[in-house]
Amino acid sequence: MSQFPITSATFAGSSSNVAKIALHNLPEYAFIGRSNVGKSSLINMLTGQRRLALTSATPGKTQLINHFLINKAWYIVDLPGYGFAKTSKSQREALGKLINDYLVHSLQLTLLFVLIDIRLDPQAIDIAFIEQLGCWEIPFAIVFTKADKMGLVAGQQQVEAYQKRLLEQWEELPPHFIVSSKKGTGREELISYIDSINKQIKK
Ligand code: GDP
Repeated sequence: MSQFPITSATFAGSSSNVAKIALHNLPEYAFIGRSNVGKSSLINMLTGQRRLALTSATPGKTQLINHFLINKAWYIVDLPGYGFAKTSKSQREALGKLINDYLVHSLQLTLLFVLIDIRLDPQAIDIAFIEQLGCWEIPFAIVFTKADKMGLVAGQQQVEAYQKRLLEQWEELPPHFIVSSKKGTGREELISYIDSINKQIKK
């Protein structure tokens, strides 16, 4: 049993318009990444609910901002995946605008988790997105997903290669986590990290 259990996780609403998201004063932890990176699976793994966030395999999955209230004390925000090849240019632009609006205007965004598939070498689209976060001064952490698909040593090498790439642009490395939704790896670390930030905010 986790030391920082998630005892309740409920769907709190969807929106395609940042201005319509209800105002509240609880911290928000948002999750983003390229489509198929394993974002929905991670949210479901963290909350212990198999179908809270709809996975890519769900028919008719729409691209919205979804809020989930956790322990009645903070929110997980499921942002749409970016860089999905099967959508049209206009759809991609609309999505990009929705994501940017949220990142720039959300009053409660506390931290953004940027998900990266641990098997992939640094991709231009992710590196550009991370650079943009720097310009906007948005606090973020990197989550390397699908760790079960690689050996421990190979996974660590991927993480180090990624960090080396980031150091070409950044003076300091962001916090990072290595997770597997399939195995539950990294759940405790991630939740206790969020918990520690929530405690700091309360002080
Ligand atoms: P999303 O589009 O980012 O929300 O990605 P999904 O959560 O829908 O996952 C995309 C695909 O990757 C699905 O087929 C998942 O079963 C698979 N997947 C997600 N997380 C993991 C993981 O930790 N390990 C493995 N082996 N597969 C995963």
